[in-house]
Amino acid sequence: MRLNGKISIITGAANGIGKATALKFAAEGATVIVCDLNLEAVAGVVEEIRAAGGKAEGHVVNVTNRQQIADMVAAVKEKHGRIDTLVNNAGIVADARLQKMTDEQFDRVIDINLKGVYNCARAVVDILVEQGSGVIVNASSVVGLYGNFGQTNYAATKFGVIGFTKTWAKELGPKGVRVNAVCPGFIATNILNSMPEKVIAAMEERVALRRLGKPEEIANVYAFLASDESSYINGAAIEVSGSISM
Ligand code: NAD
Repeated sequence: MRLNGKISIITGAANGIGKATALKFAAEGATVIVCDLNLEAVAGVVEEIRAAGGKAEGHVVNVTNRQQIADMVAAVKEKHGRIDTLVNNAGIVADARLQKMTDEQFDRVIDINLKGVYNCARAVVDILVEQGSGVIVNASSVVGLYGNFGQTNYAATKFGVIGFTKTWAKELGPKGVRVNAVCPGFIATNILNSMPEKVIAAMEERVALRRLGKPEEIANVYAFLASDESSYINGAAIEVSGSISM
């Protein structure tokens, strides 16, 4: 129970990596604040955690909506008096080559994957600093290390998230708050649905372990980074990709 008693906000927690992270955190003893776009989906994850004996609460939070974020943070602070972890997991893709990309595709991905991470961190930072403790973990990607064909917008956000991570690690480390990023490779979730099967097969070939990752394999790393076991890791961008060559 490495996360016993830790109040942990997870965005985009209704599906994929976020959901696996919510289940893992609850299994490790955290009280999980399950945030996502859809009330029913959020309630489903809360239900699953409670049925397994864990603690969870659900909030509808669109990470582009600063009022929804502020209301959720205020409610958590009011009820629990503290926040220990923010996992900035929510993210989308809207792929196109540079020559085909629309402004709408570009802006949508920047708003959610980059500004959404900023919005949520901005909303909790004063609380963490006042406590003198806390952990922020940000979802980057191998695409944020190496770039990727067709992902101008997504790559920019995931490189940007590493920029946030290193900057906040410097600003907040002296105040007792750690900030790290995880860079997953290709993980079997809905986000890959828009990728043609032959592209996914080619990706698997480029992974030394010759397979896609599982959401739980990323959740395990989030749990480690949220726990005191990683107490000297700050400002890191940890690749979890089975060793991929892009
Ligand atoms: P997913 O599509 O399975 O889940 C994403 C979740 O985010 C969904 O529940 C969705 O409703 C939620 N979401 C989308 N927009 C939101 C918004 N505006 N506000 C709040 N929630 C929102 O995707 P996933 O694969 O689990 O991805 C999770 C994170 O991991 C993303 O940031 C993604 O970029 C990153 N990532 C995924 C992979 C992969 O291969 N699956 C690889 C590298 C990084």
